[in-house]
Amino acid sequence: MDTFRVGIGFDIHRFVEGPRLVLGGIEIPHAKGLTGHSDADVVLHAVTDALLGAAGLPDIGELFPDTDAAYRGADSRELLRKAMTLIKESGFRPCNVDLIVHAETPKMSPYKKSMAESVARLIDLSPDRVGIKAKTNEGFGDIGAADAIACTAVALLVQTGSGPGS
Ligand code: MG
Repeated sequence: MDTFRVGIGFDIHRFVEGPRLVLGGIEIPHAKGLTGHSDADVVLHAVTDALLGAAGLPDIGELFPDTDAAYRGADSRELLRKAMTLIKESGFRPCNVDLIVHAETPKMSPYKKSMAESVARLIDLSPDRVGIKAKTNEGFGDIGAADAIACTAVALLVQTGSGPGS
C-alpha cells in the first residue's frame, strides 16, 4: 500500500465592505472583508479541501453545505478541526501543506508568519511545514482589481497505520 497521499484545494471569495478579513484563521486589518456563508476564510477553505481530497473524503462543500443554516457565519477553524477528526479517523495525518494566497491587497508579507503558525496549530504541524506564498495577480481580472482573494493549497498526508485508509 502507498504511504503518502497528495491533495489540492482552491477557493475564492469576494471582497465587500463590512465583514472582518480572516485569512488562515487570523484577522487581518483591512478596509474590506470577504463575503460567504461562513467567515469566508478562503485560506482555511483551500487547506481543508486539500487535506480532505488527499484523504479521499468528501469536499468541504459536501461536508458543510452552505444551504445548512448551522454553518452560517461558521468559524472556518472549527470546520477544519472537524475535517481533521475525519482525516485522523481515516488513518492519515498531515505531513506538510503549501499554499498560495492570490491577493492584490492587502500586502500579505506582514502576516505570513502568523498565518503559517495559525494553520500549523490547527492541523498539528510545526510552522516550518506550512508554506505560504503571496502573489498579486498583476492587476489582471477580479483578483487584480482587488474584488476577490483566492487561495490554492496542496497538502501531503502520511498514513498512520490505523484506520480504513491504511
Ligand atoms: Mg469558501
